[in-house]
This record gives sequence, structure tokens and C-alpha cells, in this order.
Amino acid sequence: MVADSLARFLEENLIALNDKGLFNTIDVIEGANGPEIMIEGRKLINFASNNYLGFATHPELIKAEIEAAETYGVGAGAVRTINGTLDIHRALEQKIAEFKGTEDAIAFQSGFNCNMGAISAVMKKGDAILSDELNHASIIDGCRLSGAKIIRVKHQDMADLEAKAKEVTESGEYNKVMYITDGVFSMDGDVAKIDEIVSIAKKYNLITYVDDAHGSGVMGAGAGTVKHFHMQEHIDFQMGTLSKAIGVVGGYVAGSKQLITWLKSQARPFLFSTSLTPGAAAAALKSIELMQNNPEYVEKLWENANYFKGKLQAIGYDIGVSETPITPVIIGDEALAQTFSKALIEAGVYAKPIVYPTVPLGTGRIRNMPNAAHTKEMMDHALAIYAKVGKELGII
Ligand code: PMP
Repeated sequence: MVADSLARFLEENLIALNDKGLFNTIDVIEGANGPEIMIEGRKLINFASNNYLGFATHPELIKAEIEAAETYGVGAGAVRTINGTLDIHRALEQKIAEFKGTEDAIAFQSGFNCNMGAISAVMKKGDAILSDELNHASIIDGCRLSGAKIIRVKHQDMADLEAKAKEVTESGEYNKVMYITDGVFSMDGDVAKIDEIVSIAKKYNLITYVDDAHGSGVMGAGAGTVKHFHMQEHIDFQMGTLSKAIGVVGGYVAGSKQLITWLKSQARPFLFSTSLTPGAAAAALKSIELMQNNPEYVEKLWENANYFKGKLQAIGYDIGVSETPITPVIIGDEALAQTFSKALIEAGVYAKPIVYPTVPLGTGRIRNMPNAAHTKEMMDHALAIYAKVGKELGII
């Protein structure tokens, strides 16, 4: 029995959502989320996962997860600040700090709640946050939760950042000012200009926060976008996820000892939500070790991405401004992007459409995530399908 008000709300809003074409249909994957996936009994080449290095199904991570479950059990038993801090959590945090070149790190249960918790633990009413207009939803929500004044900065526009930083600091109205940006933007694959950001931040005394969800395990030989620019000592928050290239689940901030101490006493998901499972912590730790000891995983990712991107362009597709493995195929029209994705899936390539409001109106696209586990045969097969379907739909 559902309350009348809830039934009315759901009925009206589900219809509205459907009318706007914003209703999410959810495909169920039968088995592992690897370079190929099974959906409704059909094997598809998978270009939709963030599993950049193929680590989500790596035997060494699986072994680490099983061994941790045998040692610690499957649940951590409490929030971190009561008695849910196991030695495997600290080992993971120390490994993240070493990998990122910082004094310490704090691990969260997801990247999303890491952003929600870390931003709002530091930024408060009376502060201002300058935020790139294409930042991820978890950054937007974390900024809102903080109560700080939010000022949108034009995407990757350093002149706009400087003008707004100047205006905000000279106004004298705010206690502190942060600039927050994705390290690699998830819809276009472009890279934040960390060197220019650092020099503007120094000039205007900005706190700097880089969400490197899509840069960790990809840029800077795996250590991330900040490392790529050799700016580890100049970025206050190096945030990232354990869910994409790392292949598991979770989020983290790497930074100074004092910052991490503060976050551990103030970030609400750390205080009030049960810690990462021991298995996830152990697998994530193993993942970073694998990456450090075997540079060929990251190299393979780039080799595959460069091959796939080059061939798509040669076929005649517009892949936008991507500088990373994230490979959008820009279609423009939203309905055509949806039709194109359906036709690709029908033909054997699983690649999803990304349309307004996730990206600006008129820039509908198919987003491809080539990864280190794709074989050349898989990519060539997918490219042949791209060529055929694109011609059939008049896109190329
Ligand atoms: N930040 C960015 C830029 C992301 O792309 C994502 C993942 N969609 C997140 C944060 C959230 O990470 P998680 O999936 O680990 O919660």
C-alpha cells in the first residue's frame, strides 16, 4: 500500500521523465563486466565501462579480495571512527599517499560520497567555490551541501577563472576560496590545465581540488593528472576513485597530514557510514601495487586507445577534443545518437549514448571507453561495425 501523495508524485513524474526522454533503461549484464559482456544471451564488445586497465576481473585482485574475506570477513563491522578501521584500510591509505606523492590519504566507500564529504568538511557558509561548469554531479552536490557560494567557471577557460578569482578575492566577502575541477572530464576526455591552474591559484591564494576519477590509472603513468604535470606539491586535494582504473569500489583524498586528519574527524560519510569492505580495500591495494610494478598495463591502455581513436577518425567520425582514452563519437542530434547506439548494440558493440542534459544540447554522442583488456581483434571487429552502421545511418 503506497501513500496517495507518493503514488501521485511517482505517476506524474515518471510520465514527465519518459516524455522528456530522460527515463533510464537499465541493461543487466550476465556475468563479469569485462572487455566483452553478455546481455540477454548475446556477447557484445564492451566500450561502456570505466574498467580502464581491465583490473575489475584481474586474477590477482580476485585472489586478494578472497584472501581478505578469509582473514577479515566480508564486512568491516562499523564506521571508521568507532572500530571499523582495519589494518587493511590503513595499508590502502598509506599506499594511495605513496602513489600520489602526498603525506597521507583517506579512503571513502565511494567516489561520490568522498566528494560530498570532503568538500563540505572544508568549505562552509561564508566561503566561495569556483567550479568548472562541466564538473561531475558529485562535485556539484558536495559544493551545494557545503553552503559556500558557488561560482561557475566556463569550461577550461583560464581567463574566466582568473577574472572570477580576482573579483571574488578582491571583494573581501569570503573567508576562503576554492577552485575545483575534474582532472580528466568524463564526457569529452579533455585534461585540466593543472599547471595554469596552479599559477592562478598561487596568485589569488585559492585552495585547489582536483577530482581525478578518470585520470588515476590513466595519466602520469597511472599516478594521475596532477603527477602528469608534476604538481603534487601544489594541489591541496588529489581526489580519486577506486572504482574505475583501480577496478574495485571506493574513493579517496590524498593530501597533507593535517588535511587528512581534519577530514577524518569531519567528513560525514567517514563518520557515519560503514567502512569499505576488507575485500575491496585489499583488492584496491593490490591494484595500485600491480600498476606500480607493471607499467605495461597503463602503456597497453594508451596503445589501445590511440589505435581505436585513430581508426575511428580515419573512418570519418568526429571524436571531439579528447586527449585521453575517453572517446566520444560526436553525433549532434540527440535522437540520432540514441538510434545509433541501439544499432551498434544490435550489431554487437555495446557503447552508450550520452545526451542532454549530461552534455550540452546538440552535442549528443556515443561514449567509448577502450581499455587495456581489449584485444586488437575485438577493436577491429568493433570498428568494422562502426563503419557499417555509420554508413547505414548516414552519419559518415
Ligand atoms: N567523480 C567523477 C569525475 C566521476 O566520473 C565519478 C564516477 N561517475 C565519480 C566522481 C564518482 O565515483 P564513484 O563511481 O566511485 O562513486
